[in-house]
Formats: sequence, structure tokens, C-alpha cells
Amino acid sequence: MQGPRSARWTVLAALAVPGVAWAEPPAHPPGPGELVGPDYVDHHQRPPEYDDPNLVVPPSSGADPDYPLAVGFTPADPSNYTNGGIVSYDYVVVHTMQGYYAGSISWFQNPAANVSAHYVMRSADGEVTQMVRDDDRAWHVGNSNSYALGIEHEGFVAETGWYTWETYLSSARLTRWLCEQHGIPVSRDHIVGHVELPNQTHTDPGPLWDWELYMALVRDVVPQGEIHGVVVDRSRACELTTTASTWIKATLEDAAELADDQRCQVPAGTTLRVLHQSPDMAGHARLSFDTGGSPCAGALAQEGYAWLGDLETSCDPAAVAAEGASVTLDGTTTLDVDGEGRFVLGGVAQGQHGLEVSADGFLDGGAMVDVAVYPGARLVIALDPVGSGDETGGSEDTGGDEGPIDGTGDPPGGTGMTSGDDLPADDDPSAGSEDEGGRALPPGFGEGEDAGCGCAQRGRPPGLAWGFPLLVLGLRRRSRRGRN
Ligand SMILES: [Zn+2]
Repeated sequence: MQGPRSARWTVLAALAVPGVAWAEPPAHPPGPGELVGPDYVDHHQRPPEYDDPNLVVPPSSGADPDYPLAVGFTPADPSNYTNGGIVSYDYVVVHTMQGYYAGSISWFQNPAANVSAHYVMRSADGEVTQMVRDDDRAWHVGNSNSYALGIEHEGFVAETGWYTWETYLSSARLTRWLCEQHGIPVSRDHIVGHVELPNQTHTDPGPLWDWELYMALVRDVVPQGEIHGVVVDRSRACELTTTASTWIKATLEDAAELADDQRCQVPAGTTLRVLHQSPDMAGHARLSFDTGGSPCAGALAQEGYAWLGDLETSCDPAAVAAEGASVTLDGTTTLDVDGEGRFVLGGVAQGQHGLEVSADGFLDGGAMVDVAVYPGARLVIALDPVGSGDETGGSEDTGGDEGPIDGTGDPPGGTGMTSGDDLPADDDPSAGSEDEGGRALPPGFGEGEDAGCGCAQRGRPPGLAWGFPLLVLGLRRRSRRGRN
């Protein structure tokens, strides 16, 4: 008799293990009425007519969205969310619609839905529609609704092809904007999948969602109204040697996904002359090349992403920094760069701004920076030491940001990519991956790093020169979808 009883206990203990995880209390005590009611309705259940991929996107209300890059505000039915119901902003929640963009918008407008999300995003191009105001409590994560902003991404958890580059890029910007607006820390503790919140029955976004890439992109965004820059001493540009045949790429995407003008294969043993290297971004570094420092043509002659595992060394920002440089914005605000040559300007209005850079022992440099409504701009400015033979003055490398979501390829204002300098990096992950040639974006390891600066546009002499946002990353439309 002893035997069976022990066995039963064993079974019960085993069953209890997963229960422990699910039974974890929510991060906050639930508010009145939160444990019951429509918040718990499975929002992936909708009438079949809403799952028609050919539905037309409903027109927006004409009201301005909270998020400046949303195409519009298309309110959910008022019975599908709680007016003013946000208690605190603790999470940005990544969802998968298990459906289509237009169908999900329509469903959230149906009073029968009893579900909603703040934002919905189209897979193919990352188009964002806002449906619930940030101050209102959307119904998307049960008893965490009072503390969470939700983004519904078009697609299906178990199907490849829906989480496009455009989706990652657009979603990362939206998430970063939400974090900045509402004081949410930029970390995986606060940027979570639906499945990661307590007491959920959903699995989205599922294993196909690349958190490492996503977090790298979130960290890389330059917040609204900011210019992130780095000032380097061109005479100390780094020389990085490739240890294997590898790709210089215009984006973090798998090289196989990129058009020929967005990738450039570099043989092993090639020396790259680099002005600045970003922190680890999903196993890659963004390299800002010195003039002639890249073997590639076009925009890739100035900036590109390389797989870290194929580089013999890395470029230490402190070793390249133009020490003692100061940066003046529009002839007024002046600040000194830090020990790694970095500077961050905040409160910068949309539009064109002039940056002048000077340092003892260097020719003056500068740049014109076109600041978009969002994100902010990033640039690398290289100064030439006096007597270096290059009397043209410093050159500026304006950060090529990913440009506008709409994919016009015409950066709305310079824009740089971000530099994430202001955020602490998570540590490491990608180090040891066995990806070859930087071809593949290794799916699924830990999280990305901070981003650094990137860019590149050779300056025009002397002094202030025009910096053009050169790299328009991630705008190319590509259909990787499994449907349509
Ligand atoms: Zn969900």
C-alpha cells in the first residue's frame, strides 16, 4: 500500500509544478471588477466574417492619434474598453492577432467583441492604427489591463512570415515611444509578450517572435526630439579585420532577404576602417566607415551592419573619441562630449538644425541635421587633427535612420538612428552564436544590446556641411508572408 500512495504523491507534485508558475500573483493587486467580466474574453475568438483577409480597413475617425506615426485613430467601440481606466503604465504587451489587420480593427469596433487593444499593426508595412487612447484601459490582458498598453500585430502565432522586418521596426518604434511617454523602463521585464503575463490563456506572440532582434531595435530608437551623436578623431579610426567571408548589410535582416544593393559580401581578411561601432545588436554591430574604409559601394560605403562573430576585434569608442570636443546646436546650446565622444541633445524641434563641433587640436566640423517628428536623429561626426593634411574640416556622418514607416525611402528629416547610449545595455547574449557569415539573423536568443551610432555622409568643406541621411533602412517592402 505504501507504493501506490507514494506514486500518487509523485504525480500530484508533478502536476503542481506548472501550476506554480501560472498561479503567480499579478504584479499589482487587481482593481475592482478585474477578475471577472469581459477582460477575460478570448479576443482571438471572433465571427468568421472577421477572418476574411480581403476585408477593407475601416476609415479612421480623423482625430489625431496619440502616437505621431500612427496613420490614424480608429476608436474601438466604447463598450470594448474602460474609459480612463489605466492605473499605471507598467507594461507594453506584444500580441498576435491570430487574424488580419482590417478584420481586427473591424472586430474591435463591434460592441459584441468585448476586447480591444491600444494599437494594431499591419504585417506587410508596419502601418499602425490607434484604437484606444493611451489613458484608457484596453481589454487585452485580463487582470493586467489596468497596467498595460497593448499592441496587436497582424498574423498568426504558428505561421512564419508574419513577423516581418517592417513589423519589428515599426513595433519597436511604437514601443519605445510608449516607454518614453509613460515612463516604462526599456527592459524585458516591462516589454512583454501576452503569454508572459500572469493568468493568461494565450501563447502570443509565440516562439517565432524574435525578442533579441526586437529589443535591440527598441533600444536603438532615438527618442522623440533628441539628437544622439558621437564625435570621433578620424586619425584614430579603428581597423577591423574580417575573419570569415561576411556580409555588410543595410539592415539587421538575414542577408538572403536583402536586395543586392542592400548587402555586400566581404572576403575574409578584409580590413574595414571604422569611425564608430555600435553596441551589439542581435549579434551584429552597426559600423560607420571612414572615407574609403568600406569595400562596399553606395550607402554601404558609409554604414552597414556586420556579424560580430566575423570581426577579429571591435572598435572601442573611447579609443576613437575626439577628446574635449564640444558641440553647439543652432549657435546657442553648447555641450561637451563624454569620454566616448558621445553627446545627447534633447528638446530639439522638428526640422533642420545646425551643429558645430570644435575641439582643441582639430579642425572645426559640423553637420546639418534634419530632425523628424519621430524618431530623433543620430550622427557620427569625424574631426581631422590640425595638420593632418585634410584641411577640409570635419566631416559629418548623419545617421541614416530607418526613415518613415510609410516606406517612401525619403527620410522625413534626416533622422538618425538611435543611439541607445542613454540606456544600459543588457549583457551579452549573442556572443557565441555559430551563425556563419552574418547571413542569418539567429532567431531567438536572449536580448539585444544597446545601439550605438551609425551613419555616414562625408562632409563638405569647410565647417558646417550638409549631412544627408543616407541610409534608409528597412523601408524596402518585401513580402515574406505566407498568405496572400
Ligand atoms: Zn494576445
